[in-house]
Amino acid sequence: MLAIGDVTAIPIAGGRFLPKAGVFAEAEAEVVARNIAADLARQRPPATFDGKGACFGELSDGRAAFATDDFYATEAPDVHFRQPRKRWHLAKVAFEQYWTRCGVSR
Ligand SMILES: Cc1cc2nc3c(=O)[nH]c(=O)nc-3n(C[C@H](O)[C@H](O)[C@H](O)COP(=O)(O)OP(=O)(O)OC[C@H]3O[C@@H](n4cnc5c(N)ncnc54)[C@H](O)[C@@H]3O)c2cc1C
Repeated sequence: MLAIGDVTAIPIAGGRFLPKAGVFAEAEAEVVARNIAADLARQRPPATFDGKGACFGELSDGRAAFATDDFYATEAPDVHFRQPRKRWHLAKVAFEQYWTRCGVSR
């Protein structure tokens, strides 16, 4: 991998491209970090980006939907939607707070 994040255009099944999303940028960054660490330790690069991610869809009534996806599935992107629930909204808020804290602690 020569680049990560939104600057990339990664082809997937069906002639499409991997969506540009923070969840993928983060996963790609983790692969790069692991591989750099392995390289420094003179080990074989252990990690490859697997095209998997997840996202919330806020409904603004205290509920959110949630989806997990595998964009490297062979035929077409494999996306599983969960029904809108309050618990997904709470999970989204926790996710947001996690990233807000990450930004503050730098
Ligand atoms: C409104 C909106 C909502 C989104 N919602 C979601 C979401 O719910 N879930 C999700 O997963 N993704 C979401 N995304 C997508 C997500 O924000 C991006 O996919 C992600 O930020 C890409 O990360 P990146 O590091 O590749 O690029 P960026 O986050 O764009 O970071 C690139 C950085 O490089 C800097 N830069 C650019 N040029 C130069 C230069 N010449 N020199 C130095 N620095 C430079 C920029 O200032 C920027 O800080 C959303 C995007 C938008 C716009």
